[in-house]
Amino acid sequence: MQADTADAPQPDPARSRSQHVLRGLTRVSWRLALGFGALLLLMLVSLGLAMTQIRAMSDLTQGFGTQDLPRLMQVQTLTVYTEGAGNALLRLMNAPRDQRVAEYAEVDERNRRIDGLVQSLRSRFDDPAQEETLGRLVAARARYADAFIAMADEVEADDLRLARRVYAEQVRPALQDLLSHSNALMRRERERIESRLEQAREQSNRIFLGLVGLGVIAMLFAVLLAWRTTRSVVTPLTALEASALRIAQGDYSSTTEALGSEEVVRVQQALNTMTAAIAAREHDIERLAYLDVLTGLPNRTYLLQPPASARLAPLNCHVLFDLARLKTINETLGYATGDMLIREVARRAKSVVDQVYPQTPGGLTKAVLTHLSAGRFALAMAPVSRSAAEDVCHQLEEAMRAPVDCSGQSVDLSLVFGLSEVSEPLAAGAPLTLLRNAEIALQSAKRTAHTFAWYSEVQEAARLSHLSLLSELRSATASHHLQMWLQPKLALSDGRAVGVEALVRWQHPARGFIQPGEFVPFAEQTGAIKQITHWMLEQAVRTLADWARPHPQLGIAINISTHDLQDDSLVRQARHLLERHAVVPERLRMEIVETGLMQDPEHSVAMLHALRSLGVQLSVDDFGTGYSSLAYLRRLPVSELKIDRSFISGLDHQLVNQRLVRTMVELGHGMGLSVTAEGVETEAERQALIALGCDVMQGYLGSRPLHGEALQTWLKGQAQG
Ligand code: C2E
Ligand code: MG
Ligand code: MG
Repeated sequence: MQADTADAPQPDPARSRSQHVLRGLTRVSWRLALGFGALLLLMLVSLGLAMTQIRAMSDLTQGFGTQDLPRLMQVQTLTVYTEGAGNALLRLMNAPRDQRVAEYAEVDERNRRIDGLVQSLRSRFDDPAQEETLGRLVAARARYADAFIAMADEVEADDLRLARRVYAEQVRPALQDLLSHSNALMRRERERIESRLEQAREQSNRIFLGLVGLGVIAMLFAVLLAWRTTRSVVTPLTALEASALRIAQGDYSSTTEALGSEEVVRVQQALNTMTAAIAAREHDIERLAYLDVLTGLPNRTYLLQPPASARLAPLNCHVLFDLARLKTINETLGYATGDMLIREVARRAKSVVDQVYPQTPGGLTKAVLTHLSAGRFALAMAPVSRSAAEDVCHQLEEAMRAPVDCSGQSVDLSLVFGLSEVSEPLAAGAPLTLLRNAEIALQSAKRTAHTFAWYSEVQEAARLSHLSLLSELRSATASHHLQMWLQPKLALSDGRAVGVEALVRWQHPARGFIQPGEFVPFAEQTGAIKQITHWMLEQAVRTLADWARPHPQLGIAINISTHDLQDDSLVRQARHLLERHAVVPERLRMEIVETGLMQDPEHSVAMLHALRSLGVQLSVDDFGTGYSSLAYLRRLPVSELKIDRSFISGLDHQLVNQRLVRTMVELGHGMGLSVTAEGVETEAERQALIALGCDVMQGYLGSRPLHGEALQTWLKGQAQG
């Protein structure tokens, strides 16, 4: 491990330093600092130049004031004194002797001044040409001094003629030399001053141009800096703005490329991180929104509005299935057990679906299994034939066959299926109608006690009609639109009436006469049946009370639905009515359909015992259509078996039915029960029943259900016959 580290190429410090510097240059802060630093430098250089210029100008001014101008003045004064010296000499020559002293003084004064000026100028010149001129001037001055002494001697000798001649030949030429040299000095001084002024002007111009150049460079640099900095910030920021807009629109797929300065790159990276985090969170939210937590299957939302990410094939078939008896299981074994069963159904159903529709990588999903609510699941499938869909249902049924062990209790999983289809496969996300139709089919399957049913429009029409009927049912009981019809039951041995069955009818003010088959099953599903049962119970007891004298031997049987067996008030109400109307309880009979008894056996048995202990007689209705075991039947305190009319129809010539009816009769008799045959329509059927040993018959052969006076008339006819 250590050897590896030693062998690994060591970073070159110089290179990493330069990389660090380069990295630094990609920062906006560094760029700005560098740019403004350079600008500051340019400004300092400009300031320095300006200071130099001011300094040069002030030096020049000072030079003028302290050197050039005084020197020029001295040269000019020298010229003036030189010019004046000639006149003073002329005045001296022409002055009377007594005034000569003053004139001498005047001439001396001038000569002294000239000498003083020459002396002073000597130390002031730094120009060789001027010094040379000054040298010539000094020589002229010397000649002038000599000439003046010679002239003064002649004046003192009062030889004025000679004095004038000396003046003219020596003094004046010397003075003129002096003057011409002095003028030369002055000219030269002026030239020098002018040239220095010119130089100063040129220098000033140069500095001015330099300053203008620097200013232009600084300005260009500043513009370039501003442009580059703005571009390096604005361009990536525009890209960031665009990517922020994309995020706002829910597009998390494209990440922004890291461009621009380091700060912007960091913002871009932060944005990319944020995008990834939002995408992950949104993915989670989406997942949870479409997931059923209990089963781990997709939920109803997924089925109705699948997410864009779901790659579903067009679907044409919906299977809705329901776990039977879940409510009872929840109530008896607890909700935890119920949940466990739901999970188990989900697991088994999923394995069937996965087997039938194996998912290929990248392929479209051809079947969606969802958990809708409680024990209800939906399976939407890609185009399948009816038989293939039914086959899937059978496979699901098969998968549920093994019972589930719930803390030592073995619980069966039984499913009911409702199927619907459309000829044109629907695009994903639009199967609401299919689902609704499957629901109608499922209800139909439950009603008809079948394992599965396909949706048909007849079911829909019936459902709509029943829905509106149900809403009117409540008022029907109150406003006496319900009627109790009675159908006699006759002893097969002698044909006498042994009782009647009470059957409900609805005299609808608008729709007319409505058969119970059109509203009773729906009333049972919604619980509205309880109102009907209570109403029928009251009517039956009242009628029994009325019959106490004319027909004391006749009993009345009312039909009790599964819902009523959950309603403890039924026992109380029955007791109350029987007591109030002083009716012998044994004359009241209650018929419970076999399938209904099987829904919640424990509670049903308890209720039946409570009713039986009142003295009420009990019958098993539609016997043969359910699957009650013999052991179960033995536990029921019933006294009558009513064989379903489907076994009676054509009994005389259908040997299978004869065998079945014989078994049922023997079974009933074996348990000490009276056996009644329902739906007897022909004399031949009656004879067959007699031959099979059946006790009582009920059916159109005896009488159709009758109402009010019609029954009284029928009973009277019976008594007379
Ligand atoms: P159910 O209890 O088995 O009633 C017997 C049905 O068979 C009655 O039909 C009756 O009219 C009919 N029926 C009787 N004899 C014959 C016959 O010879 N041939 C044919 N084809 N039919 C015959 P209904 O009145 O239409 O009642 C149908 C079912 O409705 C009943 O079957 C019962 O389960 C239910 N039901 C009727 N009234 C009530 C009620 O008041 N409460 C409850 N819970 N259910 C009721
Ligand atoms: Mg009945
Ligand atoms: Mg029946």
